[in-house]
Amino acid sequence: MTTHKKLIAGNWKMNGGIAANDALVRAVVAGLQDTACTVAVCVPAPYLAQVQMLRHGSPLELGAQDVSSHEQGAFTGEVSAAMLKDFGVRYAIVGHSERRQYHGETDQLVADKARAALAHGITPIVCVGETLAEREAGHTEEVVKRQLAAAIHTNGHCISEIVVAYEPVWAIGTGRTATPEQAQQVHAVLRAQLRAATEHAERVVILYGGSMNAANAASLLAQPDIDGGLIGGASLKAADFLQIIAAAR
Ligand code: PEP
Repeated sequence: MTTHKKLIAGNWKMNGGIAANDALVRAVVAGLQDTACTVAVCVPAPYLAQVQMLRHGSPLELGAQDVSSHEQGAFTGEVSAAMLKDFGVRYAIVGHSERRQYHGETDQLVADKARAALAHGITPIVCVGETLAEREAGHTEEVVKRQLAAAIHTNGHCISEIVVAYEPVWAIGTGRTATPEQAQQVHAVLRAQLRAATEHAERVVILYGGSMNAANAASLLAQPDIDGGLIGGASLKAADFLQIIAAAR
């Protein structure tokens, strides 16, 4: 059983706009009084400066949705960890299944992105998860262990500084959530893999992501190895996001 604060991180994906962000962040910040957990929003890169200003003086943490594996230079379109750091970014999602699927990101590239983030004091949220076909073929454990192994191998003794997000691909944006037992089973596998890599495995935050909402959050978050949530759709509505945060006691 882990003892650190739970982490609830919103992933806005490619959603938002100046006016909508303003209303959403103000409402979330207003609802964060006495929050027992850590709360972050991972926003599209062009809005980092806006959300950085809106969150000023509040406990809301800022996150990015990706980071370059490179330091700087001729990498058109990429955003470096140092640039994110300039805007007060504390977390960066790496290896989200949408990036693995639509942008061909490999386990090694994801591990390299995690390394680039760590080198600049940004906590990478390393996403792992199986597709429906992989689950049905009985390959869930093998897939998530392979994905996490790359991050462990590349990041060595820094591995206890990462956040892991278990996001079954079949549960993302589908309304179909893993049961608390299904999620816990995979989280326990990931925790065991981390234990073999570091003596600080208990302090690694392992999030569940995939259609987490106000109704199912409490039962998922009650599992011993589920240390928080990565929230897509429900993070775009302040009331829903705040209800999930309230469930993370
Ligand atoms: C996500 O995009 O990381 C996610 C979990 O999405 P959703 O909550 O919408 O399934």
